Amino acid sequence: MRAIRDRLRAAYGRPEPRPHRAPVDELILTVLSQNTNDRNRDVAYARLRERFPRRDGSPRPDWSAVRAAPEDAVEEAIRPGGISRVKARRIQEILRALGDDDLSRLADEPLEQAREELCSLPGVGRKTAACVLLFSFGRPDIPVDTHVFRVGTRLGLFRPGASFEEAHDEILRLADPEDAYEVHVGLIRHGRRICTARNPRCPECPLLSLCPFGRERTR
Ligand code: SF4
Repeated sequence: MRAIRDRLRAAYGRPEPRPHRAPVDELILTVLSQNTNDRNRDVAYARLRERFPRRDGSPRPDWSAVRAAPEDAVEEAIRPGGISRVKARRIQEILRALGDDDLSRLADEPLEQAREELCSLPGVGRKTAACVLLFSFGRPDIPVDTHVFRVGTRLGLFRPGASFEEAHDEILRLADPEDAYEVHVGLIRHGRRICTARNPRCPECPLLSLCPFGRERTR
């Protein structure tokens, strides 16, 4: 894992962590990101901010207003993000389950407990929980999205046929906790640029000598 980290660092640079968002914001943003790209997700989020502004003028949606709104109004606001009916329902279910809990207490809870609490929210799985823990709190969890899963499987980090859940456990076992953000971002960058789903560019890949799948393909 360290060798992979070092080679990805040499290829793409060391990623700078982005500013932390409030945990509820990160949670809803992650729901909006499902089955769409970053641009559509951001448009959907910006529209939530416009339609449900905070009275104090801060550039965040008013989550109590989103919670209380008719589902149709939320659905219409987030429509550019796709599968908006499902997402609107999910977002309101989460906000109702949270009530006035802003999740800031997760900063001080043991990591396992914080993860379990997030995963107990409606429709929240390991990846979403890991996004909140890593991006909002800088805690060492690693979201396994489709890129991380595909690249990690080809590299032999995950057992063939492993579930996403198992992949989350495995990558946490393999990576140094302080590398969580870098490993996550590095594998995503690599999955987008070189180790693409259809035609991975193995001959030019800096991980080739570490990769059973790539070595087999280039023999
Ligand atoms: S060698 Fe090929 S399959 Fe392996 S990580 Fe690189 S691009 Fe992906």
